[in-house]
Amino acid sequence: MSAMQGIVIEGTGGVWQVRTPDGTMLPSALAGRLKQEERDFVKLAVGDHVTVEPEERGQGWRITAIAPRKSVLARREPGGRYGERVLAANVDQVCVVFAVANPEPHVRMIDRFLVVCEANDLEPHVVLNKVDLVADAAMIDALAAPYEKAGYPVHRTSVKRGIGLDELRAVLHGKVTAVAGPSGAGKSSLLNTLHPGVALRTAEISQSVNKGRHTTVGAKLIPLPDGDEGYLVDTPGLREIAMWGLPAESLDQCFREFRPYLGECRFQDCHHEVEPQCAVQQAVESGKVDRGRYESYLKLYAELRASERPR
Ligand code: GDP
Ligand code: ZN
Repeated sequence: MSAMQGIVIEGTGGVWQVRTPDGTMLPSALAGRLKQEERDFVKLAVGDHVTVEPEERGQGWRITAIAPRKSVLARREPGGRYGERVLAANVDQVCVVFAVANPEPHVRMIDRFLVVCEANDLEPHVVLNKVDLVADAAMIDALAAPYEKAGYPVHRTSVKRGIGLDELRAVLHGKVTAVAGPSGAGKSSLLNTLHPGVALRTAEISQSVNKGRHTTVGAKLIPLPDGDEGYLVDTPGLREIAMWGLPAESLDQCFREFRPYLGECRFQDCHHEVEPQCAVQQAVESGKVDRGRYESYLKLYAELRASERPR
């Protein structure tokens, strides 16, 4: 047999499971040569596209090449190097799932998730679930409006009534998707309805973290069944992917709708807080930028500044 191409979907104890396009799993070890070249920022991760070759002796496979990545989902530690903790490579998009009620949506938290996506170059989709619980469609539209206006796709779904599910299935099709959002938003219900049998560990692990038990579990890619040719990223760490380590000065770039104004402020290093002739503040005043989103920016900016201050 000769070299094959595949995607790394799991790794434990130095054995990487590489999945070929026809669904075959090849347990593989990283070639010694690549191990030597390994630096933190190129450490093999789930989602990597690799070339594998059969071992000369034995039945295993050897990973002999790693394709360049188009994105990296990394946890940035305060003061740490970018990409120090790579959770997954080549993630296409993130579904940020919130319930429109029960639990009440926390819009500042939605903004925080979106900043994390932008900082990692991941395409976010906002999913507003449980629309069956809110009879007033105008309320849901008001919740969606700031995100639609900023240019994010917003999907309204109900697992209970079967609303928006085909649309969401189409979003997942053929893509590598991470699912994020607070507990109780309906992430497991959505995934289970779309793809019965598919389960993420997210909820369970994040609960144990809250209880103070620290569980370190590597990320996995879960192939979507039904020939959907997509993957879900199963990473218990997703909730904690911190903005910490994101320089406060780049936060404005992570608010997508601010970008057209960023070059227009009077001061090049404008923080868009109280500076005169600030194009972002002007865009808020004229209604071009949503005020709630701007308020999220101010709050997150202050948090990032506080975390950067030397102790
Ligand atoms: P997760 O923590 O985000 O994975 O949320 P779950 O999938 O466990 O859902 C939390 C609760 O919300 C469960 O009791 C679900 O039955 C319920 N739920 C999920 N989706 C919907 C929905 O669209 N409408 C309503 N009314 N309830 C839902
Ligand atoms: Zn400004």
